[in-house]
Amino acid sequence: MELRLYDTLSREKRTFVPLDPKNVRMYVCGPTVYDFAHIGNARPVIVFDVLFRLLRHLYGEAHVKYVRNITDVDDKINDRAARDFPGLPLNEAIRKVTEQTGEQFHADVDALGCLRPSVEPRATEHIGEMREIIERLVKGGFAYVAEDHVLFSPQAMNAANSTLPRYGALSKRSLDEMIAGARVDVAPYKRDATDFVLWKPSKPGEPSWPSPAGIAVEGRPGWHVECSAMAWKHLGEHFDIHGGGIDLVFPHHENEVAQTCCAFHRERMANYWMHNGFLQVEGEKMSKSLGNFITIHELLKDWPGEVLRLNMLKTHYRSPIDWTMKSLEESAKTLDDWYRVAADVAPGEPAASVVEPVLDDLNTPLAIAAMHGLRGGDVGALAGSLRLLGFLSESAAQWEGRKQQASGVDAKEVEGLIAERTAARSRKDFKESDRIRDLLAAMGVAIKDSKDGTTWEFSR
Ligand code: AMP
Ligand code: ZN
Repeated sequence: MELRLYDTLSREKRTFVPLDPKNVRMYVCGPTVYDFAHIGNARPVIVFDVLFRLLRHLYGEAHVKYVRNITDVDDKINDRAARDFPGLPLNEAIRKVTEQTGEQFHADVDALGCLRPSVEPRATEHIGEMREIIERLVKGGFAYVAEDHVLFSPQAMNAANSTLPRYGALSKRSLDEMIAGARVDVAPYKRDATDFVLWKPSKPGEPSWPSPAGIAVEGRPGWHVECSAMAWKHLGEHFDIHGGGIDLVFPHHENEVAQTCCAFHRERMANYWMHNGFLQVEGEKMSKSLGNFITIHELLKDWPGEVLRLNMLKTHYRSPIDWTMKSLEESAKTLDDWYRVAADVAPGEPAASVVEPVLDDLNTPLAIAAMHGLRGGDVGALAGSLRLLGFLSESAAQWEGRKQQASGVDAKEVEGLIAERTAARSRKDFKESDRIRDLLAAMGVAIKDSKDGTTWEFSR
């Protein structure tokens, strides 16, 4: 069984061949830490967690390195810091915002059953690598200094007579069309409208570092160069997989490729470029700017993280997902059932019927359908398969207990009411026994009478 992955650059599914099977390397663009992450932001985190788990399964845990960065220098962070902590010096306020948001992000994605990446580099800890890349680009003639900025020139890249990739190849855009379509109000320091910022001067009070390329004033990096620097530091000049949401293909990933390939004279940055589709609400991308978002944090108040995870994986990662309440309710029912039948059995090897579709470009909907098929048969294989995909982190009792806790239902109280009902029934006070049954139903507790007595379960 071989792993096949869809590569955005070649626009086809290809067999995955790692550069070094003893050191399989993946980079995924992580969050900008200024606010709670929404459930759309959780999509790449969950999708690439499945891939990380699969790679560990195939190549061994010690042989996979997964890097997901934290962007902790950004205008949105500065704005938030100034707004939330007006009494503090900006740098201190920024540290508070990035620390709090970073911790919240970890709590959220831990609850979604995602393993921590091997390394989570922070942009502010890699300024040296960014400066080095920028220096190389200026020396190589791919970037220039203007009014204390450093700008990358895609036109210089495409004019270079070399084995470099073409600028625009990843996003399938032609540079000529980009030039023709460029807006007129281009910043005056740019030679060409398509040039993008590698480094810019900091405004007073903003975070700043000594600038590269002989610029006298202090400055800060552009967003794209951060990822080139962190990927280089932790994975090298050329690695296996680079991932993120589909909105990052252009300009972010196109620019990452340009920077890395030109700085290191490489034909490629990553061998496979993978992008997840959007999570949508009523046909529109969930996003902060549209205001149609719901945070992971809010959802976790109503749903266990694994329910959100299953709900995400029911759709293939490249297709859009419509996030609906109905689908969440179904996912919750499915997991309740799987916890009941599989959480406490000894896990067997994951079933081939589950692993094969996952190997085929992470076809999780097909894998989930196969798990429904295992439910009535090999529950050991079901347990093993669920664990491979990051489910069943709790015992069946913990799962039940947490659900009751979440609903505010106390098991002792339920048992007490059931005893009262049994007493009412034995004295033939059916009005009272019905009242208690309805009360339990209102608490979300379903009861079942049999000759051996009354059992109950929590039904959402
Ligand atoms: P951002 O905070 O917007 O930079 O996004 C962080 C990550 O979440 C990136 O990989 C984005 O592509 C991804 N992302 C943002 N919104 C959505 C969405 N609605 N659906 C899927 N992925 C998203
Ligand atoms: Zn990135």
